[in-house]
This record gives sequence, structure tokens and C-alpha cells, in this order.
Amino acid sequence: MAETKQTTRTFTLNTGDKIPAVGLGTWRAKPNEVATAVEAALRAGYRHIDTAHAYGNEREVGDGIKASGVPRSEIWLTTKLDNPWHKHVVEGLNASLEALQTDYLDLFLMHWPCSTDPDDKSKHYADWDFRDTWREMQKLVGTGKVRNIGVSNFAITNMEKLLASPDTKIVPAVNQIELHPSRPSPKLVAYNTSKGIHSTGYSCLGSLDSPLYTNDKILGIAEAKGKTPQQVLLMWGLTKGWSVIPKSVTPKRVEANWQLDGWGLTDEEVKAIDSIPDRFKVCDDKWLPVQVFFGDDE
Ligand code: NDP
Repeated sequence: MAETKQTTRTFTLNTGDKIPAVGLGTWRAKPNEVATAVEAALRAGYRHIDTAHAYGNEREVGDGIKASGVPRSEIWLTTKLDNPWHKHVVEGLNASLEALQTDYLDLFLMHWPCSTDPDDKSKHYADWDFRDTWREMQKLVGTGKVRNIGVSNFAITNMEKLLASPDTKIVPAVNQIELHPSRPSPKLVAYNTSKGIHSTGYSCLGSLDSPLYTNDKILGIAEAKGKTPQQVLLMWGLTKGWSVIPKSVTPKRVEANWQLDGWGLTDEEVKAIDSIPDRFKVCDDKWLPVQVFFGDDE
């Protein structure tokens, strides 16, 4: 474990493509923060950036990539189809490509299993759901514009529905879900793995004002190892087998979160973090017109 070079580590997807294990998240970054963070990350060595149409920062992400001087071909770029675009998958993709100033994505995710009516965002379409959206997303594969397709925020209940659909010909390459010690979702991770679907952990540090930064067990391990609580949280996720996409717009933190080489966590340390009893959820489904979480992940 101690020998693993985490920063060049990849996970192999069911398509054969390799997703870098550590990426930069970009949610809730304020305007004018993202380009600098993306540039700092790429200069530090990151080769994976996670964004979404809904974050409103794809253009800045594209600017940061350009400013870094790192060739596009060396970067894994993920973005996500926003809920009101489910009936307009091609237009949604093209809007993201244009904003990101690129001609292809490494990974295009359905952000939520929720097909929101763009004319009334409190409503879900009556005649369309995520299975229809996935049917359309599958048509993107082979166009040269999208290398891998996947989903996000899919609970087991919805993943079962998706995989059982006669229209589903491609198993998602990735399910991006909330994963941190207070939301470890072991059943969902095991389910994804059993279907050959890679899990990416979002809010992997516990998100804004994370209570995990003052958790006794995390602090104890961090102090004993001479690491930061954030580094310990990221190493825990990598050791559990999922990719992590920590967000920071603070260049020093972006660089510190990348210091994951030459050390690891022992089995005992991983178990100690696994045993943290507190639970919280960063992203719920109350703001959506349909339920997407069913308590089937633990
Ligand atoms: P994270 O768990 O990555 O935590 C981000 C917070 O931690 C920010 O407030 C950041 O502050 C702070 N932080 C980061 N590094 C450090 C550090 N070394 N020391 C102290 N504080 C630190 O939260 P997110 O919820 O943003 O999740 C990560 C990414 O996952 C998102 O940005 C997004 O790309 C993705 N995501 C996807 C979702 C989905 O529905 N698919 C939902 C949620 C997230 P600061 O930036 O001020 O430095």
C-alpha cells in the first residue's frame, strides 16, 4: 500500500478506458474562481476534472485547461447532462462541448435520474424518464464526441430499473455518488461493482464546512501520519476502491490534496474510519420533482 503512487493511479472502466483516480471537483465554486483552480490543479499534476452543466462554470473550466498548457489529450474531462435537458441530449452535449471549448468528453454523466420539465421545473415529464434519457445517451457513443457514458445519483432501485430496460444496451461505465465516511453506502458500492460499474465518490471530503475535518478518528490518524485530515479522507476513498474528486478553489489546498504518493492507510486505520458512526448527506432529493434516494445504499 505504501508503495502505491496514487496520483498516477487509474481505475479501468468496463469500456477499457482508464479514469484517473484523483480529480478536481468544481461544484459551488464562485465565478472567477474555477479557471485558476483548474489551472493550479493541472500544473500540480491532476489529469482529471469534474464539472457539470448545472454548475454554470464549464466555460471557466475550459479557460483553465487552456491556460494550463496541458494538452487536452492528457486530461480526463467529465461533465453532466442537466435535468431539464433530458429530452435534448444532443443539444445538452453540444452546449457543454461549446462551453468547455473541446470537441469531446471523456465521460458524460446523467447528473440525476430525474427528467425535469424545463417549462416548469417543479414537474417531472409524464411521458419520459431516465430510461429514455439513457437510450438517447447511448446513441452518442461512437460519434467521437463522447468516450464513455455513465450516471450519477443512481440508487440501487433506479439502477435495477435502468439495467432491466429493454432499451439499455450499454451498462453505465460509472455511477458518481456521494461517498465519505459519514455516507459510505457499502451496499450501493458493492452493487455497482457487481455490475462492472465504477463508483466515483463525490463530496468525498464531506463538502462545504465538513464536520469530518474535526472528527476525532480522522484527526488522530492524520496527526499520527503527519498528514492533513483531507489527505486521510481522500486516501480512505482510494483504498476503498473508488475515484475521488475533491473540490477546492484554493491553490494551496488543491496542491495539498494531491500529496497522496508514498504513503497509505493500514487495514486498521481503514477499519477505524469505517467505524465512524455519524451519518449525514450532502445532497438530498427534496429539491427534485421525483424521489431518487430510497435508503437502499447502506
Ligand atoms: P468536497 O467534499 O470536495 O469538499 C469541498 C470543500 O472542502 C470546499 O469547501 C473546500 O474549500 C474544502 N476543502 C478542500 N480541500 C481542503 C483542504 N485541503 N483543507 C481545507 N478545506 C478544504 O465537496 P463537493 O461537494 O464539492 O464534492 C466534490 C465534487 O464532487 C464537486 O465539486 C463536484 O465536482 C462533485 N459533485 C457531484 C455531485 C453530483 O450530483 N454528481 C454532487 C456533489 C458534488 P475551498 O474550495 O474554499 O478551498
